[in-house]
Amino acid sequence: MSLKNRLQKLRQGFAEKEIDAIFISQPENRRYLSGFDGSSGYLLITPQNTILATDFRYIEQAKIQAPDCEIFQIIGDIVDWFPKLVAELNLRKLGFEAGHITFALHRQLSDILNKAQSQLRLIPVDGLVESLRAIKEPEEIELITKAVEISDAALEYIENMIDIGMSEKEIAWEIEKFIREKGSETIPFDVIVTSGPNSALPHAKPSSRAIQSGEPVVIDVGARFGGYSSDLSRTICLGTPDDTFHKVYDTVLEAQLTAMAIIKEGMSGGQIDNLTRIVIEQAGYGQAFGHALGHGIGLAPHEPPRLGPNSVDKLTSGMVFTIEPGIYLAGWGGVRIEDVVVMEGGKARAISKVKKIGV
Ligand code: ZN
Repeated sequence: MSLKNRLQKLRQGFAEKEIDAIFISQPENRRYLSGFDGSSGYLLITPQNTILATDFRYIEQAKIQAPDCEIFQIIGDIVDWFPKLVAELNLRKLGFEAGHITFALHRQLSDILNKAQSQLRLIPVDGLVESLRAIKEPEEIELITKAVEISDAALEYIENMIDIGMSEKEIAWEIEKFIREKGSETIPFDVIVTSGPNSALPHAKPSSRAIQSGEPVVIDVGARFGGYSSDLSRTICLGTPDDTFHKVYDTVLEAQLTAMAIIKEGMSGGQIDNLTRIVIEQAGYGQAFGHALGHGIGLAPHEPPRLGPNSVDKLTSGMVFTIEPGIYLAGWGGVRIEDVVVMEGGKARAISKVKKIGV
């Protein structure tokens, strides 16, 4: 991983955004550009300086994790420290992360600058660091692969031990224990285990409902390794599935395999979403696929690119994202199949490997 390269690419984007520095408040962006993974702090990046501002609790950690940054110790309220942070840097146009900074913080910063009759203007910027993060370096792909291996193993483990009568909550806890024991850091999102009618809710919380024979069980699990996430879903059925299960499952599987096979470098996230949606529509379930086809994954479990209706995000080499079509029928249940893929040699290569029913 080369922080220097990342910072260089970021600075190359300043001119287009008409800024001469950027104030980073988004935690994953801060980590990506500095190596510092503490839970509090900001980065100020100018053409010459990379300053990491954090408070007493994190100073030693910051020195170790971000040796190339100048460390600025935050003392007191932002009204006190922000003017000191920007003093003598001679900045005119400071970009801030519009999608992340709170309205309250923006107002505070504006008040500070107005009161000081500062020349410094705050310029909203969106997606500058995220667009760099969307294209993974080989080292990042390795970390994601490790996280995927843990979630693959968890799915395999649970498919062997799951039984009729176990509750969704019990299964979710078994999965969470397993992935932590296998080396996952804190889980990137709550494990989803939904059964029968509950599985018609794509992101329902595991309940105390006991798994019954013949119904769909959707399991969606992520692990985290070296800060990087995985995200994997499988749908299984204990006992004998009904006719609906066969039809719905086969449609989702066909949609997913189609998407993985036809993705090509340069396609937009909207195009591939649309082509996949056609498979589901032709089977008569168009209204039942109510979410996007997929999303980028990295330091955050959801990040660019977006593979969904109208997305203009171009799929290019080094991008890592999920492919997760689903069909959800109220009262019956749902099916979702999700893999993590990386764009390589112009095509999508699956990183996740755990088996799917019917493949
Ligand atoms: Zn996902």
